[in-house]
Amino acid sequence: MFVKVENLSKVYRMGQNTIKALDEVSFELEKGKIYTVIGPSGSGKTTLFNIIGGLDRADEGRVFVDSKEITAMDQKRLSEYRRDYVGFVFQFFNLINGLTVYENVLSSAHLSKNPLDVDMVLKMMDVYSEKNKFPFELSGGQQQRVAIARAVVKNPALILCDEPTGALDYDSSKLVLKLLEDVNKKFGTTILIITHNLAISKMADATLRLRSGSLVEFSKNLQKISAQ
Ligand code: ADP
Ligand code: ADP
Repeated sequence: MFVKVENLSKVYRMGQNTIKALDEVSFELEKGKIYTVIGPSGSGKTTLFNIIGGLDRADEGRVFVDSKEITAMDQKRLSEYRRDYVGFVFQFFNLINGLTVYENVLSSAHLSKNPLDVDMVLKMMDVYSEKNKFPFELSGGQQQRVAIARAVVKNPALILCDEPTGALDYDSSKLVLKLLEDVNKKFGTTILIITHNLAISKMADATLRLRSGSLVEFSKNLQKISAQ
């Protein structure tokens, strides 16, 4: 299994109160598949992403990615893991405003041991003609495609997308999802997508549903399996 999550728990303490953001969550993900993570606001989706992505620490349980236990890594190895294994895509794009499209993607490529060609990735995301523009000159859909280019150019095994279409209209959302599928097909990237949109969750190979910090459903998408 490419990703293995075992009895993962995370508690946030705020003064007198404790919030169990994740409560003994366990599952396994195969390499090269697309998964969506759904569930109401506050159910633990972002906390799960942050731990799998090495941005946050668990309180209990273990996470393995590519047979490496990331929950046992010190800060230095965890930052290497983030750099070498993970591409992040967020709802509000998180581009560097003072850099052009090309420079945004190049600066991400420079962080990687094994980057892809910047022009190739810009063309794949259909933003090559915008390469000398700054983020504020682009539509939301274009900005998100540049953000995906920044993730993809690192050539990561895993791409984590937290509500990637949450700020986009329907047509832009559809294009962003199609491009994520293209990345998955072309590079065999394992992709996890947090979404509130049920139509989006259906495009995945499987869907994980969280409720109050627990994994309450892990369902394969039968339509997709029968289409293969
Ligand atoms: P989701 O992404 O499903 O909306 P989150 O993982 O963001 O859920 O949050 C899960 C729970 O943990 C929520 O109750 C949230 O308020 C709480 N939480 C998340 N991050 C923090 C934090 N940094 N400090 C305190 N509580 C947090
Ligand atoms: P997308 O489908 O990627 O969201 P749109 O159809 O919204 O793209 O945008 C088409 C064109 O309009 C693009 O070339 C883009 O540069 C321009 N554009 C859209 N929104 C803005 C904006 N807020 N500021 C500047 N240019 C914009």
